[in-house]
Amino acid sequence: IMEVTNLKKTFGDLEVLKSITFDVQKNEVVAVIGPSGSGKSTMLRSLVHLEKIDDGTINIDGEYLVNKGAYASPSDLKRASTKMGMVFQHFNLFPHLTVKENLEMAPKLVKKETAQELSRRSMELLEKVGMADKASAYPSNLSGGQKQRVAIARALMMQPDILLFDEPTSALDPELTGEVLSVMKELAKEQMTMIVVTHEMGFAREVANRVLFMDQGEILEAGTPEEVFDNLQFERTKAFLRRNL
Ligand code: ATP
Ligand code: MG
Repeated sequence: IMEVTNLKKTFGDLEVLKSITFDVQKNEVVAVIGPSGSGKSTMLRSLVHLEKIDDGTINIDGEYLVNKGAYASPSDLKRASTKMGMVFQHFNLFPHLTVKENLEMAPKLVKKETAQELSRRSMELLEKVGMADKASAYPSNLSGGQKQRVAIARALMMQPDILLFDEPTSALDPELTGEVLSVMKELAKEQMTMIVVTHEMGFAREVANRVLFMDQGEILEAGTPEEVFDNLQFERTKAFLRRNL
């Protein structure tokens, strides 16, 4: 469903993504792990067009966002971008909107749905992430885990084909990570296609179909969790896992 080929990105002299190539199959969960500064966030941000890449190809569901460095037209980009939903480390909820309004904001602008239909879908998704009772609350009155569950529901409102997560639990107190991970496990069980940047090695091993290990702007290892965790090719990966397991 997604094909990324020779993605390159520099910030000034710094080569942040050197030549990233991977694909994501439909219904697959791909975990991306790797040390701080290795380019994980930049890669995700490039996929959803929050960063402009210097070269490479991103194809989603047969449509090019970028083809060998040449971006699609703004309208094609916009359409292709709606196939992806993103969940950020720091939730990025709108503080002046209620939980329910946060969910309905984006689809209200782009989807042709009645208020009633929007309301039905938002309540259904809040139910799914266990937040229906907080529909009228403001983000400032929620715990970090609750905010992140709302952020996941909000991303699902746009009915994306792929959901991207950038360290969704690393801003949370340890006792709150479980509730977010269990929502993500549930989505995986429902065959949602996901790319998850995470430091949660347990989640990567248990839930991911494939693991990519990134280091210094490159994908150093890629394979099933067993292949990556149990048969490491590179000393750099071994050192990373020793520090993080
Ligand atoms: P972490 O695990 O800490 O989140 P990461 O793997 O997500 O790290 P990135 O945030 O993608 O890493 O950063 C990769 C490199 O690019 C780092 O060296 C970072 O300092 C640099 N970088 C990221 N964003 C910018 C920017 N807007 N301008 C300049 N340099 C940047
Ligand atoms: Mg990051």
